[in-house]
Amino acid sequence: MIHEHRVINPATEELVATVPATTAEEVGAAVTRATTAQRTWAALAPADRARLLRRFAVLVDEHAERLAGLEVTEAGHTLGNARWEAANVRDLLDYAAGGVERLTGRQIPVPGGIDLTFLEPLGVVGVIAPWNFPMPVAAWGTAPALAAGNAVLLKPAETTPLTALRLAGLALEAGLPEHLFQVLPGAGDVAGSALVAHPGVSKIVFTGSTRVGKQIMAGCADRVKRLTLELGGKSPNIVFADADIEAAAAAAPMSFLDNAGQDCCARTRILVQRSAYDRFLELLVPAVASVVVGDPSDEKTQMGPLISRAQLERVRGYVPGDADGFRGSSPTGPGFWFPPTVLTGIAPDAPVATEEVFGPVAVVLPFDDEDDAVRLANATDHGLAGSVWTRDVGRALRVSRAVRAGNLSVNSHSAVRYWTPFGGYGQSGLGRELGPDALAAFTETKNVFIGTEA
Ligand code: NAD
Repeated sequence: MIHEHRVINPATEELVATVPATTAEEVGAAVTRATTAQRTWAALAPADRARLLRRFAVLVDEHAERLAGLEVTEAGHTLGNARWEAANVRDLLDYAAGGVERLTGRQIPVPGGIDLTFLEPLGVVGVIAPWNFPMPVAAWGTAPALAAGNAVLLKPAETTPLTALRLAGLALEAGLPEHLFQVLPGAGDVAGSALVAHPGVSKIVFTGSTRVGKQIMAGCADRVKRLTLELGGKSPNIVFADADIEAAAAAAPMSFLDNAGQDCCARTRILVQRSAYDRFLELLVPAVASVVVGDPSDEKTQMGPLISRAQLERVRGYVPGDADGFRGSSPTGPGFWFPPTVLTGIAPDAPVATEEVFGPVAVVLPFDDEDDAVRLANATDHGLAGSVWTRDVGRALRVSRAVRAGNLSVNSHSAVRYWTPFGGYGQSGLGRELGPDALAAFTETKNVFIGTEA
């Protein structure tokens, strides 16, 4: 049994902190405390709940630099990304706070009386987060769940608990009721599965690998527990010959190298129309070579290390020793470094072309026409994101609609936006997070009929 987790700086391999691991019994005690706190929270006037969440957002803003620093140290994120992530948590809290007073039910015309719907909080929600975007992903679940009147128990990934713990401290400082938002660091198969199994937890929001997501879905089935799954991806970046090829090639590197490729939306399958293939590659080689890889705390750095040695070995295992292609550079010495890597001449059904590598590795595959592009794009069990580069508006819409994925970008590689719904098709997930309906996903609709003819 592991009693504590060692947090290691992935850029230096130095020990950053040790964090106690929550036991299954402690999860049970946390659920009991959260159940009481949730009642207090739900009984507050909506305007007061909104005010407290806005105060929480202000504190996150005031501590943004410190939170970003923690994310650089524990996750190896570049400083630029980490600052964006802290700001994203602030914005999510603000956006969710704006929904508290607008979470209205409906009045539906029926004969014999009046029919009303209420959006009731679920109770205690368990959020299980991955290590690749520890802060934003935790907030995607936590902010709307709190805004809809729930308590939240957050289980961060073993390797990245520090920002989550700091956020819980800020929530208390902001005046949210004690135990309303608790962070339970610990092992997935102990603290995580205790949350999934506990009858007092009404919903699980899981973001992580497809493999673990399937186990969690099975665990939730036992109690018909509500569930949102945000799982892996293998997203296509489709470049048609009629696109602005210079712009497409310039944008392609960071669409799979951001966060060292440890991004569920990474565009790791670059599909290029055959007539533009050579020109595109000619432009892509220098664009990849110019990506600055190194110390994540340096403001000029664009790509940092992988999260751990295990992840480094996993990524290495996907890259065939004799593969054609090209690489950028990466530091040598301590740290979990892998250079930006683009593979060509790979069979479309090879593991590196179909499975989520979760590292800075992309394959480039040629296609003939629109049908061929859509067929290749959909030749995966995943369906999270994708991009389409073309100057033809009709084609942009046709292809965006034909690709079986939840989040498409045209002539861009849009990041996840908190204003818009986000989630996956197929084995990339279940349900949607963010966007205008985010709060509703943390409620039960209750229908009440009042007879007026008695
Ligand atoms: P993971 O599945 O290994 O772990 C995710 C979380 O689940 C961790 O907190 C872990 O401790 C916990 N966990 C592990 N086993 C568990 C169990 N049996 N019961 C309950 N909890 C358990 O994933 P990871 O390696 O931390 O994250 C990387 C994965 O996350 C990638 O596949 C990536 O695509 C995915 N991801 C998806 C999205 C999205 O929105 N779709 C966003 C970010 C990451």
